[in-house]
Amino acid sequence: MNRIVLLGTGCPSPSHIRYGPSTLISTEKHKILIDAGSGVTQRLSEFGLAPSEIDIILITHLHSDHIVDLYQLYISGWHTGRTRPFKIVGPKGIKKFFDKTVEAYADELNLRVDWEKRPNHEGLDINIIEIDNEFIYEEMGIKITSIEVQHQPVEPAYGYQVFVDDKKITYSGDTRYSKNLEKASKNAEYLIHEVFVSLAFNEKRMTEDTLKNVKDYHSTPKDVGTLAKAANVKKLILNHFVPPVFDEETLKAEISKYYKGEIIIGKDLDEFVL
Ligand SMILES: [Zn+2]
Repeated sequence: MNRIVLLGTGCPSPSHIRYGPSTLISTEKHKILIDAGSGVTQRLSEFGLAPSEIDIILITHLHSDHIVDLYQLYISGWHTGRTRPFKIVGPKGIKKFFDKTVEAYADELNLRVDWEKRPNHEGLDINIIEIDNEFIYEEMGIKITSIEVQHQPVEPAYGYQVFVDDKKITYSGDTRYSKNLEKASKNAEYLIHEVFVSLAFNEKRMTEDTLKNVKDYHSTPKDVGTLAKAANVKKLILNHFVPPVFDEETLKAEISKYYKGEIIIGKDLDEFVL
C-alpha cells in the first residue's frame, strides 16, 4: 500500500509527543524520507521499517532540527544491513556538513568497523547530491522534483514535489509564503505544510527581535490557508508546528477562514493512503 507517514511533526523545541521533522513516503518499491529530525530512527522502528530500507533522503535545508539525526540514520542503516550507499539529496552545503559529521566520528567508526567484523562495508559508502538548480528524479512510477522556497537568511531552502503514480504530494519544508510552492501544489492530492502558530514572549529566552524574526521566516495560519486555497489542494496536512503544543481547534478555525478543504493537524505516526 502506498502511503505518507508523518514520523515527526515537531520543531527545535523538544517534545515527547512531536519528534523532530521527518516524513516518509512509502511505496512498494520506494522508501523516501524527507528530513532527518531528532528521533527519526525510533519513529521508523515504531512504524516497522529498518533504516537500511530507506532508498533516498531528501533534505529541505540545513537548520539543525532537520538534519540532526542524519548520522544516526547512516550508522543504524549499516547496522540493520544496508549494502548500498547512503543516499542524500539536499541544498548546497549538505556535503560539507555531512563530511564534517563523519569526520567527527571517524575514530569511533574505525574502531567499530575493526571490532565488529560486520559482513559488508558497502553500506558505509556515501552518495550526496547537492541541488544545483533543480533536482529531478524519475524511476519506477515515482517522480521527485525540488522546489526552491523562501526561508532566508537560510538559503537555499527547498520543498519537494513527489508524484506517486498519478498522485501529487507537495512538501513545504520551512518557508514563508512561497509562490513557487503554490505553483507546484496546483491540484495536489496532499500539501504537507509547516506552520508558525504563535509564540508567547519570554524575556529569558527571547528579545523582541527573536519573536519577530522567528515568525518572519515561517508561514502564518493565514499564509498556509491562502496558499492551500490558491493551489486548490485536495487535502492540507500540517506539520512542523511552532511551538509543538498549541490549541488545535483555534488553529483549524483560523486556517479554515481561507481554505475550505480538509485540514489535518498532523500527529507523529499518522498515515495517509495514496
Ligand atoms: Zn528552518
